[in-house]
Amino acid sequence: MATNLQQGKSRSPQSEHSEGGRGQLLMTEDVLLSVRNLSTHFFSREGVLRAVDGVSFDVKKGEILGIAGESGCGKSVMAQSILRIVPSHGRIVDGEILLQHDSGVVDLAQLDGRGDLIRSIRGAVVSMVFQEPMTSFSMAYTIGNQIIEVIRLHQEVDEKEARIRAIDILRRVGMPKPEENIDAYPFALSGGMRQRAMIAMALSCHPSLLIADEPTTAVDVTIQAQILELMKSLQHEMHMALVVITHDMAVISELCDRVMIMYLGKDVENAPARELFSNPKHPYTIGLLHSVPQLGGGKSQKIEAITGMVPSPYNRPTGCPFHPRCPEFMPGVCDKSEPPQVIVGPNHSVRCHLYI
Ligand code: SF4
Repeated sequence: MATNLQQGKSRSPQSEHSEGGRGQLLMTEDVLLSVRNLSTHFFSREGVLRAVDGVSFDVKKGEILGIAGESGCGKSVMAQSILRIVPSHGRIVDGEILLQHDSGVVDLAQLDGRGDLIRSIRGAVVSMVFQEPMTSFSMAYTIGNQIIEVIRLHQEVDEKEARIRAIDILRRVGMPKPEENIDAYPFALSGGMRQRAMIAMALSCHPSLLIADEPTTAVDVTIQAQILELMKSLQHEMHMALVVITHDMAVISELCDRVMIMYLGKDVENAPARELFSNPKHPYTIGLLHSVPQLGGGKSQKIEAITGMVPSPYNRPTGCPFHPRCPEFMPGVCDKSEPPQVIVGPNHSVRCHLYI
């Protein structure tokens, strides 16, 4: 088992001086983030877990991308990789995470995860909203203290100005009585108010990209709709790009311009949202869409769960990782080789042997 701990191409951390630099990195002007062939693996006694396994996608400036799939498909590790906050037993073993930055294009995958450059990017250029606000806030300080600290970390303003800006952003996320609630401790707020406070903290430095990981899972249905509406309007108002990570296809259809579906660490389908909902290609995507009620589908619509369970990531099926659950399984083909990514339409790609 010890040999597994050695597997995977290791990347040597670079010095702060050469951070992100590997010759000229090219991206078109309209793209803010370009993830290319990214692999993030975890190493343990059980073996190697390929949490993210050769995934590629772009996020354009001002675009909303949804990343969807069942639990354990690699969505959250993808976000952790972009922010360089992968837990210590995991690491990026291959690929690039290119970000348009003031100083040009930076490859986040090449940065020292504790270096000055990634710390200046995190929170200020790329920010994140987590599923559970309690993980973002310390219970020992008021929400105001914590938002002000983030503002002063990235902007040269005094305490008084930072407080004015914190109250302003709390007001913009719909926090009631922001002048009073800025001095509240996180545990004294309701779940919905904590979620708004976390969004305020994430937006306090006007990031170019906000990553929201299951932003509405911990709140009830009424608050969910309000939070989604709020994120959509703030994204538009602040001209930022938004990546929404969710298992909920209804959230995707409500918010997103483009969708990437993940299964066992693979990007199995990527398409404009409208195209994906009207013309899904991958059998897994089709299964996901059939497993949730469709808007306007009426009472007679059939809801079918995808058969079987997601296999253990330590024991991946051979060939196509979805083959043990796939209704279109072709013996001798799907279990023999992993399907490559193929283009099936404008901006629409899929990994499935049915389209080769
Ligand atoms: Fe199904 Fe085969 Fe396509 Fe995989 S490659 S999704 S098993 S048809």
